Amino acid sequence: MARGISRPLLIATGLVVLGLASWAAHAHSRSSARVQTHATPAHKPASVASPALSQAASSPATPPAAVPNSSSVLEPGKPFSTRVVAYQIEARLDPSKHSIAATETLTYHNLTGQPLQTFPFHLYLNAFQPQSTWMTEVRLNGTRGTQAGEAWNPKHFGSITVTKFAVEGMGDLTGKMEFAHPDDNNTLDKTVFQVALPKPIAPGESVVFHIAFNDIMPEVVERTGYKRDFYMVGQWFPKVGVWWKGAWNCHQFHATTEFFSDFGTYDVKLTVPKDEITGAGGDLVATTDNSDGTKTLEYKSEDVHDFSWTASPHFTDVEDSWSGSAGIVKIHLLMSPGHMSTAPRYLAAVKGTLEKYDEWVGPYPYDRITVVDPPHGGFDAGGMEYPTLITAGTTWDMPKDMLVPEVVTEHEFGHQYWYGMVATNEFEEAWMDEGINSYMEVKVMDALYGKNSFFKFPFAQLSEDEEQRLSYLSLPDADPLTRLGWKFINDQSYGGISYGKTATVLLTLEKMLGEEMMRHVMHEYFLRYRFTHPTGEDFLKTIEDVSGQNLRWYFNQAFYGTQVLDFEIEDAHSDRLNWWEDEKPGTKDQTYRTYVTVQRKGDFIAPVDVLVRFEDGKSVTEHWDGKDRWIRYSYIGKSKLASAVVDPGHTYWLDRDFFNNSYVVKPDSRATHKLENLWMFAVEWVSQLTNWLT
Ligand SMILES: [Zn+2]
Repeated sequence: MARGISRPLLIATGLVVLGLASWAAHAHSRSSARVQTHATPAHKPASVASPALSQAASSPATPPAAVPNSSSVLEPGKPFSTRVVAYQIEARLDPSKHSIAATETLTYHNLTGQPLQTFPFHLYLNAFQPQSTWMTEVRLNGTRGTQAGEAWNPKHFGSITVTKFAVEGMGDLTGKMEFAHPDDNNTLDKTVFQVALPKPIAPGESVVFHIAFNDIMPEVVERTGYKRDFYMVGQWFPKVGVWWKGAWNCHQFHATTEFFSDFGTYDVKLTVPKDEITGAGGDLVATTDNSDGTKTLEYKSEDVHDFSWTASPHFTDVEDSWSGSAGIVKIHLLMSPGHMSTAPRYLAAVKGTLEKYDEWVGPYPYDRITVVDPPHGGFDAGGMEYPTLITAGTTWDMPKDMLVPEVVTEHEFGHQYWYGMVATNEFEEAWMDEGINSYMEVKVMDALYGKNSFFKFPFAQLSEDEEQRLSYLSLPDADPLTRLGWKFINDQSYGGISYGKTATVLLTLEKMLGEEMMRHVMHEYFLRYRFTHPTGEDFLKTIEDVSGQNLRWYFNQAFYGTQVLDFEIEDAHSDRLNWWEDEKPGTKDQTYRTYVTVQRKGDFIAPVDVLVRFEDGKSVTEHWDGKDRWIRYSYIGKSKLASAVVDPGHTYWLDRDFFNNSYVVKPDSRATHKLENLWMFAVEWVSQLTNWLT
């Protein structure tokens, strides 16, 4: 999911100010005596890791485990995934009531190695009810698109009702259905139900459920629902939980959480009015015209863990294709009225992203991707991912320098890898899909659109990595990355940490390991875990395996902790040794004592380099282990201090404050002043503004 698609628009409100600040920064930089500035860091080759970091990394080395076999080779004609579920759904849309009546046959293969008697199911649409857990959380903290305590338009209510639940060979068990609330004991929440069968399903056996259900779709909320005659139908059918880590994993629907389900096959027949133009996360295999003014579309999808669809009589279907290492991918773009000028932008973004992922991460093995462009007023349906179907978002007047359609398309497509194929538990470890995806968003957007791709206005630019970092710093220390998705202190922390912090932590890691090594990591992680449900530790172990480094000191703080990193040049100055004598003008033979004091202001402990330059052009690089709260270096020499910079290689993108990382002496003045890049200062200032706005 794109984190609050309106965020860029909100930030835009600060652009006038940002423009002025940017202008001021550039104007100032021309005349100021900057010796060392925090310029936007260039990516360094793999071999360039700071010596201090290399030392730390090599100290308490656990020998890296042998790299497990990463050859999850996809063989033609064979399933990509272990298919646990097979869904056959027949659904009929009634636009006059915004309702869907459907039957579902679910075959569940018990591959758990043990008998299963109780089966839990998700009923996500019941989140949109007044006393649901989702709604209670939204009332408290707000969520994407809804503010805390905001008036609620009853049109946004939605529901799903199971009218029949039968099990083959066991009869009608509708009366045995009971709602479950494993996360919060909210007995009024109806987003999970479970049924205890009369007898267990033995390991290796299958059970067939026959379910009938009715959906009342909400007017678009949380990326599902209708807007006028547009439908984005997601999370719309009873979906069985996942047997994971020796237990059922079937969480209630929360304000900040997404989804988790098993791989399998979907055969879905959709009956809709004849004039509807549809798209779905599957291949269209048959269309039948019915005598009652409807048509039935039959979709098939394999090796996916969800199925969503869309319909509108007003879509323009733009078709294209892209050829990658796994074959041809058909691209369907379903454009809403008034948005056609954005179609080439979506296409360029989706093809470019396919290209970069294919090159860097691994093949896209499906033969299709559908991009849905929600209509005017349906923005809340935008910025969402489902297997082989994503929703984007634009407006009729989207400026070309505001790359919202591109960022959203890139982000949602990226989820085909981090969620779609590497199917992590989005309830419990949101950072693994949103955060890893946000890191890749930085890499792909930079590669496709150049630096400053978040905004490209002539008067103001913002790069992807800066945006991620600012999002993280908006509330950096309330929650660790590894917090369960619904346990964050608030929505801001959930978003800033899951998306922004993960990206920032991985960008820092990239500086430590090198860009090329990081690419190996992502490639290996994808190959090892595609079509499975890896955990955070699986990802971290892959990093250590591939890099051959013990990085626990970093993981423990960055992933598992809430420590914030902030290094500062607390003081730096030179003093004449013979200070008690008057300084004779023009005397060359002076000797100075120079002090540089570096302080670790944050609680994040990390080794760091300190670069000290003197006026004669000589320099010293110190390697500090960063363990104490401060360190002071002193030098005696013939030249005065010119500048001191902590973390001169800009390794720590995590650093809370770049402004205090350097200390510069004006060459023609005794006065010293702290000077970082004023542009960074401006960006941070705007960040504060946008936090206030949101
Ligand atoms: Zn996302």
